[in-house]
Amino acid sequence: MKLITFLHSGKERTGVLTDMGILPFQGEKSLLSVIKSGVIPPFTGESLSMEDVRLLAPISRPEGDIVCLGMNFRDHTVEAARFDPVMKRENKAVYFSKRTPEATPPGGKIPAHRDLTQMLDYEAEVAFVIGRDAANVSPEEAREFVFGYTILNDVSARDLQTAHKQFYFGKSLDGFAPMGPCIVTADEFAYPPDIPVRCFVNGEKRQDGSTRQWVFSIADVLCELTRGMTLRSGTIISMGTPAGVGMGFSPPRYLKPGDTVRCEADGIGVLENTVE
Ligand code: MG
Repeated sequence: MKLITFLHSGKERTGVLTDMGILPFQGEKSLLSVIKSGVIPPFTGESLSMEDVRLLAPISRPEGDIVCLGMNFRDHTVEAARFDPVMKRENKAVYFSKRTPEATPPGGKIPAHRDLTQMLDYEAEVAFVIGRDAANVSPEEAREFVFGYTILNDVSARDLQTAHKQFYFGKSLDGFAPMGPCIVTADEFAYPPDIPVRCFVNGEKRQDGSTRQWVFSIADVLCELTRGMTLRSGTIISMGTPAGVGMGFSPPRYLKPGDTVRCEADGIGVLENTVE
């Protein structure tokens, strides 16, 4: 199932995207509430077309910060360390969080924040959403905690992330979390997932990888983190980006107002946003 959140006649609604159109759910629960309840609501019986609606991020207001992995693709680790030698990955996962009061919808604008950054960058990623409260998860049971997958563009201000020693500020400016177009339930993918993910800037392919290249797997991450912290259902964990980000080029190729960033993941869809 491809679960979506959308605006229809001025109201925020949820439903399923199918080949026959959008089938809205009954009720006014957010997708986050639906995931937390563990129950997929009944349909209203309507069928809407994409022209009738405006897509929002599937979880437009996450409950907490998005949990992110840094340098979880070997090829990206090399380019990151070239940019800033501090960014070398040792044999432990790199975790950070991304403050996201509101995720940017498909088609939404990425603010350039020119007063704060001259090094605006993109990172196409596949994120997973936890479907049940998770504590002390074992490797064997990790997959049962995966509700589904979505695309996240982990937009980054490289100068801020370097200046402040930690990623938090440089990853968390308003509009830095484009997400969507949907959450695809985990049953539609193999486990561990092998989802090709690509990024295009103004039509030029910059990133091309697959989730099978993750250095640390979903099971690694869930087992490690939940040994010491409970991850509530609805938590979003973004698993890192392949090589080809702007800072990896020589000279770097950062985003500027007017640029279009298109993130694609096979089986999930397309997330396209314009910088302004
Ligand atoms: Mg990232």
